[in-house]
Amino acid sequence: MKLRTIARMTALTLLASTALAACIKVPVTGRRQFNLIPDGIMRSVGASSYQTMLADENVARGTENASAIKKVGEAIAKAANQKDYDWKFKLIQESDTINAWCLPGGKIAVYTGLLPVVESEAGLAFVMGHEVGHATAHHGAERLSQQLAVLGGMAGLYVYLENKSDLNDKQIATVIAAAGVGAQGGVILPFSRLHEKEADVIGMMYMAKAGYPPSEAPGVWDRMEEASGAGLPAILSTHPSNDQRKENLRDWMPKAKKRHNRSSKRSGTTQTLWTNSDF
Ligand SMILES: [Zn+2]
Repeated sequence: MKLRTIARMTALTLLASTALAACIKVPVTGRRQFNLIPDGIMRSVGASSYQTMLADENVARGTENASAIKKVGEAIAKAANQKDYDWKFKLIQESDTINAWCLPGGKIAVYTGLLPVVESEAGLAFVMGHEVGHATAHHGAERLSQQLAVLGGMAGLYVYLENKSDLNDKQIATVIAAAGVGAQGGVILPFSRLHEKEADVIGMMYMAKAGYPPSEAPGVWDRMEEASGAGLPAILSTHPSNDQRKENLRDWMPKAKKRHNRSSKRSGTTQTLWTNSDF
């Protein structure tokens, strides 16, 4: 098939699917999002990726810390209230890695390196809530949908250039490549900053609903910044700055405190449990 035929077909298919796509509401923030990918598909991708991603990891079994992850994870899962999720919580014994993630469908992993940074159950509840927030807000599917739409837009641009201009194929390819770079910088990167802030808000509301004091949330990012040292890893360069994150959390704090006051659970969970990564 010729490139122009493929481009035209892609544009038409995307136009059709875009028209059919439901605009979904994000939990907690109520933001409307554009999402082309059904959650059932994302959940099954999440379940199979989880197996693959854990296969070569040193997963803790029956340890005190593994139980802590499960306890906090179950409290956050209850707050997230997703009836189609099959929740799993695993602790990976890797003290150099300050990380946690949640795949679609509620498949969670926490690395032991994160524990001295979160320090307490409340800090852990915030980070787990943040990761779960990315999943329940369908951020992965939204970004994928967006990339598909950008591709559709690019295909449309190709058809336009081909019909309206005297550029040769090579020049058209250059213009499209340049537009692609623009689309990355202009649409996709700021979106990931929005996603981080949104996951922070959702995480803080989930922790509050689960009975953990939301006032513990902002300090986690301070300690995270400290632990990662002066030079932030490249992956974090697309993230909002620590100050922006804390300002965002401050905006939502009164709401989170109200939610925490209404929560029937009252756990004494701010006690420091983890101070180093020797587990
Ligand atoms: Zn995040």
